[in-house]
Amino acid sequence: MKAVVSDRGLTFAEDYPMPVPEPGEALVRVLLAGICRTDLEIVRGYKGFAGVLGHEFVGVVEPARGAASRVPARRPLDGRRVVGEINLACGRCDYCLRGMRNHCPRRRVLGILGKDGALAEYLTLPVENLHEVPDEVSDEEAVFTEPLAAAYRVPEQLSLQKTAGPGTKAAVLGDGKLGILAALALKERGLNPLLVGKHEEKLGIARAQGVRVSLLDAVRAERFFDVVVEATGSPRGLEVALFLIRPQGTVVLKSTVARPEALDLSPVVVDEVTVLGSRCGPFGPALTALARRLVNVRPLITDILPFGRIREAFQKAEGRDALTVLVDFR
Ligand SMILES: [Zn+2]
Ligand SMILES: [Zn+2]
Repeated sequence: MKAVVSDRGLTFAEDYPMPVPEPGEALVRVLLAGICRTDLEIVRGYKGFAGVLGHEFVGVVEPARGAASRVPARRPLDGRRVVGEINLACGRCDYCLRGMRNHCPRRRVLGILGKDGALAEYLTLPVENLHEVPDEVSDEEAVFTEPLAAAYRVPEQLSLQKTAGPGTKAAVLGDGKLGILAALALKERGLNPLLVGKHEEKLGIARAQGVRVSLLDAVRAERFFDVVVEATGSPRGLEVALFLIRPQGTVVLKSTVARPEALDLSPVVVDEVTVLGSRCGPFGPALTALARRLVNVRPLITDILPFGRIREAFQKAEGRDALTVLVDFR
């Protein structure tokens, strides 16, 4: 099958072996898959991953057949359009038993850690990871479920911490895909965040959906915000976040970067700042937001290209103005 393979560099395979579902897994035919910043970081060495890249997708569950199907009855998701949670947990360890499956130490992660990913014609995932896509959500929108879920993780964590309410002064740093989605998710959850970035055009996408925006150079709000979400994808983002956060405020870190830089953490101590790491999030609210048109992800699509133009797709994804390049396997 066609697949984008990362193994000390990037290769575009035409004859990669088809994945074989393990017990409890489904075979999914990929319709669309997104090229994410994380994928580009992996190519640069993040996580040292070797295998098929990609973790943002929408696909169709292939009916079980042949040797893999000992299950006689048709399974409920057969033939259905699905998106999938990317963490494969063991289900037995202390973390899993405490409901922290995303932190299972034995986990594998689709296209990131020990599990071939979604930038291919087929993938496999445990059936329990799959979510059916409502009819009113198009393929082009559904492919954003995973990053939108990661964005919804921010309000989820803040409400767990009881740090945010309607009067909370919140800022989101970074006008890339995740920054825009985080601002939209916070707004949908009743906060009124300021999205701070460097690109007028990208900020405009959020502004068109009612989000307050500002260019970074125009922000003079030293020690002003109660909550700062750092989604710049840059090692320097945390430094800016620590400039903007008020004493005893909360900085939420969303960026994963391959090459972290040395950083002076004394402001965290002196200002008693809470630093909250934030990764994968809940698929339910993301799919609901897409189905009810609470969040519009379509303007985040930079381009949709078939696998035949995969090199061009990666070149575009690397571009400074790129938000999301989708690879079309339909
Ligand atoms: Zn991603
Ligand atoms: Zn586990």
